[in-house]
Amino acid sequence: MNNIETINKDWDFVIGIEVHVQLETESKMFSTCEYTYGKNPNTLTCPTSLGLPGALPSINEKAIDFAIKFGSAVNAKIHSSFSFARKHYFYPDLPKGYQISQFDKPIVTGGIVPIWWNNKKYDIKLTRAHLEEDAGKSTHNSSNNNSQVDFNRSGAPLIEIVTEPVLTHPVQAKIFIQRIKQIVNYITISNAEMEQGKLRCDANISIKKKGVKEFGTKTEIKNINSFRNVQKAIESEIKRQHQLLENGHQVEQASLTWNNEKNTAEIMRVKENADDYRYFPDPDLPPVTIKNSKIESIKEILPTLPFEFENKWINTYNVKPEEAITLASTRYIASYFEEMIKHNVDPKNASKWITGELFRLFNEINIPFDHNRILAKDLAKIISLNDSEEITTNSAKEILRKLFDSNKSIEAIMNEEDYLSSTSNNIEDIVNKVLKENPNEVARFKNGEEKLMSYFIGKMMKESKGRISHKIISEELIKKLK
Ligand code: ADP
Ligand code: MG
Repeated sequence: MNNIETINKDWDFVIGIEVHVQLETESKMFSTCEYTYGKNPNTLTCPTSLGLPGALPSINEKAIDFAIKFGSAVNAKIHSSFSFARKHYFYPDLPKGYQISQFDKPIVTGGIVPIWWNNKKYDIKLTRAHLEEDAGKSTHNSSNNNSQVDFNRSGAPLIEIVTEPVLTHPVQAKIFIQRIKQIVNYITISNAEMEQGKLRCDANISIKKKGVKEFGTKTEIKNINSFRNVQKAIESEIKRQHQLLENGHQVEQASLTWNNEKNTAEIMRVKENADDYRYFPDPDLPPVTIKNSKIESIKEILPTLPFEFENKWINTYNVKPEEAITLASTRYIASYFEEMIKHNVDPKNASKWITGELFRLFNEINIPFDHNRILAKDLAKIISLNDSEEITTNSAKEILRKLFDSNKSIEAIMNEEDYLSSTSNNIEDIVNKVLKENPNEVARFKNGEEKLMSYFIGKMMKESKGRISHKIISEELIKKLK
């Protein structure tokens, strides 16, 4: 079968993504009932989240704040009045027979998510972001043909983020979703862990011959559960549509589900249209109006966003885009880097040490970056001692490793051994020793073989365990030899 890049030579891919992010508020979207991931099934329920007759919804204000936060982060329009609508469908994990969502008056419309793909920046246009409630969770056991429903998640607050059909490649779609996770992490509205179902996405896909304006018929792959599968699912669907169209068939509008074991997207049902859901305004929830001052005050406390850091570092500090992307990956790394700069470390140098030595130490023991393990001020000190050649790069790395592996202070570690080149009073001893052990080379040097200088420096570096700087060694050698 043709691979994606080959198909892409003659066909354009059109992809639109819908991402559901669970908002980490204390209570559910329309009740005061708690939601926490991983609790025993059906222990976090209430009449409202079970859809019992007579139970009434009330709105979680924190969820509204979180939606405003998201809208501000992506520079979208935040509406001061919006409303909720019932979206009807039948499924065992939806006890009311409808989901409360937003239809024609969502809280957020428009907005842009900047992403990097193949070293280029793309501004991905959003259509909208709206609030809704989650459904319960069904599990199907194929060995005994049992199905079970856990209603803990029923009614948990979600924000659904919808893009315009502007993504053009499966990898670009994956990067977009990773960016959404990063943004909601930065603004602390959700950990968005896909394994916990806190970020779920649907991918809408169509393809069209290059040069054709009109979009083809789209299909939608539902509930993709990992970043890798986003790419795989879209690729497999592009290939399926390509086969159909190349063979003179048509693509039928449909919903598919990703089968992890078989590595294919399977058709679930021929897709319903919006009118199949019989949307109508929820009569239990009057339209909401919020004050502009509320929106403004949320905008004011918004933290610096990853794409803002990247732009700043690339444009004002000349940091390479790949490095800026890595440094902005989490808000902890980003603020660590910023703190290093406040300690007067040259940004490029700070970037080199963080993404090089420091990340290596965390990778070696397979734990995520933790800003408390090595304080930014300590790394800044090590770098500045190295820059001024008071300690060698070798020593700097050794000190960093000791600091990482122990609870000792940097002062204690520095005092344990003779790291400071300038205070090493044994430089002369080392020079004398090396010269004495290499009389032939000394004679040759004196006869004009100046390139032997690097031979002596090498010997002396070894003798001093790499602790005395090149500069000091060569100065001392020149004194002795000339
Ligand atoms: P639906 O009514 O099926 O939910 P929408 O128009 O609301 O469809 O769009 C849902 C998602 O599908 C959006 O992300 C949108 O960008 C995307 N989309 C719309 N048309 C196409 C298309 N022809 N090809 C690919 N994606 C599309
Ligand atoms: Mg849809």
